[in-house]
Amino acid sequence: MRELTAVRDMREAAAGAKRHGERIAFVPTMGFLHPGHLALVGEARRRADLVVMSIFVNPLQFGPNEDFASYPRDLERDRRLAEQAGVDVLWTPTAEEMYPSAPEVTVQPGPVGTILEGAIRPGHFAGVLTVVLKLFAIVQPDIAVFGRKDAQQAALVRFMVRDLSLPVEILVAPTVRDADGLALSSRNIYLDAGMRRQALALPRALAAGVEVFRAGERKAGQIVAAAWKVLASESALTTEYINVVDPATFQPSHAATPASVLAVAVRVGTRRLIDNVVLGEGTERDPRVGGPSR
Ligand code: AMP
Repeated sequence: MRELTAVRDMREAAAGAKRHGERIAFVPTMGFLHPGHLALVGEARRRADLVVMSIFVNPLQFGPNEDFASYPRDLERDRRLAEQAGVDVLWTPTAEEMYPSAPEVTVQPGPVGTILEGAIRPGHFAGVLTVVLKLFAIVQPDIAVFGRKDAQQAALVRFMVRDLSLPVEILVAPTVRDADGLALSSRNIYLDAGMRRQALALPRALAAGVEVFRAGERKAGQIVAAAWKVLASESALTTEYINVVDPATFQPSHAATPASVLAVAVRVGTRRLIDNVVLGEGTERDPRVGGPSR
């Protein structure tokens, strides 16, 4: 595995691969890697000659009261995990190189960027899309792999690729969960045992929504109510949103279909957790909880 920091070196590595006719797959991350990230590398590995992973904690996508400074970082460990997973180039740019000055031009999402996560984290998706566009411009991937764990982000990246005619294919891979059902996240390290116990209401709530959907319920309100009941049973947990949304547009739906996404965000103490499920698939399809992986 090669490790690069400078933007120029990454550009040269990408140009060299292209000259040799190699296909580049790209996995952008903020590091503190877990098996969810590594599953994305597996998808990338199957589809390309050169797998590039970036680790960059992007200051632009954090709000002023968010956890940019305390976001977990462990480059030593990440290096080892990335290499074992089959990353060819690990690129760890610095903030100074990515943003030599405050950006004058940024990518502003349309209305989908202002609902759900976008409503709670104003400016977050503009920060995400701006950095993703910059990363794409430097890595020049043929394909980029994102996680469904951040389904609204993945939908917005797809919109950006479509609307700005970017020559990259987007693949969205299923959410990897811990054995207890909690979706893996770098931020789970913040949860103590009590918070983690409460957080398990999240996958349970999604499963309750899936269960009523499977029983034939198609009214989004009823599916949300079933999930809400589970969340409400954890008194220390505050629900920020829970919605049935269209998978492509992320607009709230009244009638659920097997492709609809039940998306939820909660606060446990000072921490936020998000999760979602495709109603027709359920959480048991995720590789780490024993179901068929796809
Ligand atoms: P992050 O490092 O949190 O910015 O995530 C980098 C990429 O990994 C994003 O595309 C995420 O959606 C994806 N990801 C994060 N957690 C998971 C998970 N549990 N399963 C699958 N993909 C994930």
